[in-house]
Amino acid sequence: AKRVVIKVGTSTLVYPDGSINLRAIDQLAFVISAMRHRGREVVLVSSGAIGVGLNYMGLKQRPKAIPEQQAIAAIGQTELISIYKERFAIYEQKIGQVLLTRDIFVYPKSHRNVLNTFDALLAQNVVPIVNENDTVAVDELDHETKFGDNDQLSAIVATNIGADLLIMLSDIDGFYNGNPNADAKAQLLAHVEQVDHRTYELAGGSGSRFGTGGMVTKLKAAERMLKADGQMILANGKDPAIIFQILAGEPVGTLFG
Ligand code: ADP
Repeated sequence: AKRVVIKVGTSTLVYPDGSINLRAIDQLAFVISAMRHRGREVVLVSSGAIGVGLNYMGLKQRPKAIPEQQAIAAIGQTELISIYKERFAIYEQKIGQVLLTRDIFVYPKSHRNVLNTFDALLAQNVVPIVNENDTVAVDELDHETKFGDNDQLSAIVATNIGADLLIMLSDIDGFYNGNPNADAKAQLLAHVEQVDHRTYELAGGSGSRFGTGGMVTKLKAAERMLKADGQMILANGKDPAIIFQILAGEPVGTLFG
């Protein structure tokens, strides 16, 4: 895997009390810089803009109105990128911000422009840091502009730029044969060769008391990677240095593929 996409969720970047996990961000910067140094091309898809924005504005809760959420995302994205820039600079690694909406991949011309930008950034040894453009994409049901979530965005980016590995860091050790929050006997699956309706049943239906929907979008991402003959590894992001173990081929998390 020469090109690798890494996706980090809000749970990796922001503590439950709303403060920013600088230790995790620093580890990410260190790991990704080291990967670049060893000749890999790495793209980081990062959530966390709203969480960081709330912290920056001294707010405890997400505002209800959509335009206000978009404003928090714009503020938080700026702050998040400036933290990344500072932390990557410690390892002499440059970054570039890429904000995307789903329609970009629908129109051939914008599609080509996006791919050219990724190529040019990677050719110059820059790490692209990607997020959905929340100023443009609004409604969760607006499937034309909205990716829906960064899990699917990361898989769409990976398959489009020809990355054959997507490393998905979450707040859980991997994919279990049942929702571990609801079922204490649920066991981690080390290897999932294909994603079909039976796999989705293990993710726990939405509407259940513990259902977050979080695992469903990760399975959709895995399905997309598998269709493109790629792989996805779902692992716990509490210590992003786990990426070194993944790249060394150690069995951590769940391998899809
Ligand atoms: P992130 O913020 O990292 O994107 P999410 O909270 O969206 O993470 O999704 C991860 C959560 O999905 C887990 O913490 C767990 O509560 C839930 N989940 C539901 N079904 C499963 C399953 N079969 N295996 C693992 N986790 C599951």
